[in-house]
Amino acid sequence: MESIADRIARIQEQIAAAARQAGRAPEDITLIGISKLNPATAVAAAFQAGLRDFGESRVQEAEPKLATLAADRAQIRWHMIGHLQSNKAKKAAALFDMVHTVDSLRLAAALALARSSLPPPAPSLSILLQVNVSGEAAKAGFALAGWPQHAPIFAAFCGEVAQILALPGITVRGLMTIAPYSVDPLPTFRSARVLRAALAQRFPAADWSQLSMGMSDDFAAAVAEGATMVRVGRAIFGERR
Ligand SMILES: *Cc1c(COP(=O)(O)O)cnc(C)c1O
Repeated sequence: MESIADRIARIQEQIAAAARQAGRAPEDITLIGISKLNPATAVAAAFQAGLRDFGESRVQEAEPKLATLAADRAQIRWHMIGHLQSNKAKKAAALFDMVHTVDSLRLAAALALARSSLPPPAPSLSILLQVNVSGEAAKAGFALAGWPQHAPIFAAFCGEVAQILALPGITVRGLMTIAPYSVDPLPTFRSARVLRAALAQRFPAADWSQLSMGMSDDFAAAVAEGATMVRVGRAIFGERR
């Protein structure tokens, strides 16, 4: 059976190939191992294989896993990639290095307050704004379907972005999106890339460097469309039970 280390090596090669084909540098793309529903021992194996970025989708599940891997905490970047309720913001702000799933001004404000209340030297919490550009009803994220054709949608989003950028304790690093299930992901990835460029033009002082998109089945397409972070679970850790 292929080991976790073998799988990571193969995925890194596929990422590098997709990057080169798109005229991009492979090192500009970070592979995040999504370890949800897998044990801390699997994370440890991936860590041994050189992976340093891990993602979890639930605070309750992440907490004991982070504790098990506490000795390596300084070398690991933990990413929150699941939907986050504002009442979990306090714990999330203390546990994670980056929250990919900020989908409202209210959640951003809760994270900002929580992170600002941590004892120094807690650095600013990196966040990504989750955008729903496909309009799929089941997807969380700022509602941005049709934004290129409808100026008021983009304008309303920019109003919220301006308020989020002004919050203390958190730093926006870019956008995150999830492609709809079982349809061509390319239009979604492309729309997120173009949206990021529009935001970078509108808010040039902010950091829009990161674009988190692509999972086990579509990370190569995401890299072709400019992903800087891909979130891969099953292809590394196997099917979840
Ligand atoms: C579970 C999950 C992933 C990883 O999905 P795989 O198909 O296992 O690669 C990526 N992103 C999000 C938001 C997830 O919930």
